[in-house]
This record gives sequence, C-alpha cells and structure tokens, in this order.
Amino acid sequence: MDCIFCKIINKEIPGKIVYEDDVCLAFLDLSQTTLGHTLVIPKKHYDSILECDKDTLGHVMNVAKDIANSYELKLNAKGFNILTNVHEVAGQTVHHFHVHIIPRYDTTDTIEINFKDNQDVYDLDEILAKVK
Ligand code: AMP
Ligand code: ZN
Repeated sequence: MDCIFCKIINKEIPGKIVYEDDVCLAFLDLSQTTLGHTLVIPKKHYDSILECDKDTLGHVMNVAKDIANSYELKLNAKGFNILTNVHEVAGQTVHHFHVHIIPRYDTTDTIEINFKDNQDVYDLDEILAKVK
C-alpha cells in the first residue's frame, strides 16, 4: 500500500521517532505547527479513527496522553490540542489514522484551531431531534 505513514513504520522512510511499541508509533510532525507537534499512529493501517478497533484506539489514546504529560515537563507545554481529522472535508491529508498532539505555550499562539460560536445560527432542539 502506498501509505507514507506505513513507510515510516516499516522504516522505508525516516521519521523522528519519539516512542514505539508493538501497537503504535509516535513521531514528530514535519510541519511543527507548534514546537513538539507529534503524531501517534497505530502500526496497523486504518484509514481513520472510524475504522480503528477499540483496543488499538484505547492504546493509541493512552500513549498520546502519556506523551502529552511528558511534554509538560520536557517542553514546558502549558496545554495541548489533541485531535484527529476524519476525511478530506475535515482536513485529513494522510489516510492512515493519526492523533495530533499539538503543544500550546501561550494563548496568543497563532494556530488555526478556532471553534466559532454559532449559537445564533442553529437550534439545539432541532439538532438534538436528529442525533438522539
Ligand atoms: P492530517 O492533515 O490530519 O491528515 O495530518 C497529516 C500530518 O502529517 C500533517 O500535519 C503533516 O505535516 C504530517 N506529515 C506528512 N508527512 C509526514 C512525514 N513524512 N513525517 C512527519 N509528518 C508528516
Ligand atoms: Zn498506512
């Protein structure tokens, strides 16, 4: 399969590996959205979180948590955005499930994760009727 993250797992291309075990791998994201931006991926290929089995997902998220905790000490991070994108519409560009760990240092960090307040646009009860 022509998957860039599988190639990092198989050591066919280099990655700056932060952590590795039998189930997952963590490595520095090339883009370094903030200092220390890290990806955690399962070694088994899943296109996105939606396909990932529960045990693997639990393991990946626990590793992400441990890495974030360690970055509070090692990088003096003050907080994190820990997230995964699903499908192109949400910004997924690499179709091998990955969790972003984006350390945050200052509330004025200029990174584009903004949750716009649209409470004037949508009706919560209408949405609830659809999703419940
Ligand atoms: P997403 O847009 O959620 O699919 O994120 C994909 C991420 O993978 C981006 O933040 C890229 O910077 C990162 N990326 C792509 N190729 C590599 C690579 N070879 N090594 C490390 N990070 C990569
Ligand atoms: Zn893959």
